[in-house]
Amino acid sequence: MENKIRNFCIIAHIDHGKSTLADRMLEITQTVSKRDMKNQMLDQMDLERERGITIKLQPATMKWKGYILNLIDTPGHVDFSYEVSRSLAAVEGAVLLVDATQGIQAQTLSNLYLAMEQNLTLIPVINKIDLFNAQTEKVVAELAELIGCEPESVIQISAKTGKNVEAVLEAVIEKVPPAKIEIEKPARALIFDSKFDEYKGVLAYIRVVEGEFKSNSRLIMLATGKEVEAIEIGIFHPELVKRDSLSSGEIGYIATGLKDVSFCRVGDTIALAKDKLVVEHLAGYKEVKPMVFAGIYCKEGSDFGKLKEALDKLSLTDASLVFQQESSVALGPGFRCGFLGLLHLDIVQERLRREYNLDLIITSPTVAYNIYKRNGEMIVIHSPQELIKREEIESTKEPWMRVEIVTPEEYIGSIMKLIQDKRGQYKDMVYFSQKLSTFAKNVIINAEIPLTSLVSDFYDALKGVSSGFASMNYEFLEYRQAEIRKVDILVAGDLFESLSAIAYEDNATSVGRKIIEALKNNLSRQMFEIKLQATIGGKIIASERIPAMRKDVIAKLYGGDVTRKRKLLEKQKKGKKKMQSQGNVDIPADVYLKILKK
Ligand code: GDP
Ligand code: MG
Repeated sequence: MENKIRNFCIIAHIDHGKSTLADRMLEITQTVSKRDMKNQMLDQMDLERERGITIKLQPATMKWKGYILNLIDTPGHVDFSYEVSRSLAAVEGAVLLVDATQGIQAQTLSNLYLAMEQNLTLIPVINKIDLFNAQTEKVVAELAELIGCEPESVIQISAKTGKNVEAVLEAVIEKVPPAKIEIEKPARALIFDSKFDEYKGVLAYIRVVEGEFKSNSRLIMLATGKEVEAIEIGIFHPELVKRDSLSSGEIGYIATGLKDVSFCRVGDTIALAKDKLVVEHLAGYKEVKPMVFAGIYCKEGSDFGKLKEALDKLSLTDASLVFQQESSVALGPGFRCGFLGLLHLDIVQERLRREYNLDLIITSPTVAYNIYKRNGEMIVIHSPQELIKREEIESTKEPWMRVEIVTPEEYIGSIMKLIQDKRGQYKDMVYFSQKLSTFAKNVIINAEIPLTSLVSDFYDALKGVSSGFASMNYEFLEYRQAEIRKVDILVAGDLFESLSAIAYEDNATSVGRKIIEALKNNLSRQMFEIKLQATIGGKIIASERIPAMRKDVIAKLYGGDVTRKRKLLEKQKKGKKKMQSQGNVDIPADVYLKILKK
């Protein structure tokens, strides 16, 4: 029997029209009637819809011309590249979609590489040809050159008007290899996503690789070792539709009844519990680790309980979010949270704000440092407060990233300078569309940059120096030696732990100076003088003073009496001394924030 199943996904840079194309496909195949069609059906989270980015994949099974077409929508951001790679592992083909007004962008490339690693059949498509500023011819040539195909085989569409979208579906049927069907082997399925459903517990989104899964059978997740019952099995239409079984080649879901996604990890293998001694893991599973860390606190201390509950709940649906309670003198109790990257941080804080209605303070993001101690131990630290004394440290390593920037060539100079300013190392540069001299040339710049530079403001700076035209993607490269110091801040002689910072040794003095300058500019005057000091290992590296508020104690005295004047001044001085020695200066939360946000 001819195999009628085609599994595919759409890969594209953000905003190139992936969701819009998926919508048209659902319409053309009458999976969703036009009447029921909400725009961008597959982007389910409000937040995603608003930002036009896909964070969570939502698959769909479509029937068309006697074929079963399973579409998986992948997340569009580098923070989630592991998830992208797992959904690509669940399919045989990819529609590579490029906006005719934008051309190939950084995420087009990173997704393309991931697809090539999985040996997927590529279907090159140019979108938005209806727009007046579409540079269709140029982009077709670029794309053909990039993947090494004939320009004629690049399909030109408008996902908005629906023009030529059928041709894309036809290409999927013709070119994407049919799903391999191996029904006799012991059942194995790849988990390419998971989702928490209030009624059915955790849903494992699966691609059945071999064998067959029936509802009510006993299952095991091989990496976590967790055994569950298949409470319900079904397909995505795109809403959940119950079925009795799913077999080799198919894409669908298994409701596990689990209360927590942590046992149902993306990339893990599901098998029948009875086979647990004979089946092997599918290749490619890994546990993703958080790369970026930030403190999350409540503006209202009384909201802390609510924040804890919210994070607990969020982590039920987001296995890559980690958090640990911490406490700051200034900001009260809070959490140190770990994220896959900056967008992940952004999404989490936005969801906490919206879905849980919390007023939050987020400290500036930091990275994890590996500290090798003299006694042979290695510890990982995520905040300045955890940095131990220098005498105990043998060496320190920080994460470096491989960065790929796509830009029109006129910005090469300023981007090179930016890379250098951010302590990065330029590697090389590749021109594309060398043959197309009529068009402005785009180049790919490869560089290596410490993650700390990326999390500070690299992306904004890149957009700034390239008038918004450059795009980038990054991936973890390796840990490298870093000379770092802890900068401590003393206010009126007291150490303020939460103002401490980690800085590169050669830059630590200026970081310390910046912090105390910011304090000076933001703290209000007191009746006494306030000494501000930045120290490294107990040595003062910078200091400032906030002069006392002047109260004119002698204003009431007219004329001569010098002794009385002196007496009054003397008395005032003593008073101030007393206040100063009692010492403590309160730093209001908003001043903290201004400093921690830097
Ligand atoms: P995604 O981020 O790749 O999912 O992109 P979306 O599907 O959300 O599309 C981004 C924007 O481009 C939206 O405003 C769409 O309406 C618009 N868009 C998508 N396809 C087309 C097209 O073919 N023509 C025009 N004019 N606009 C399009
Ligand atoms: Mg989208």
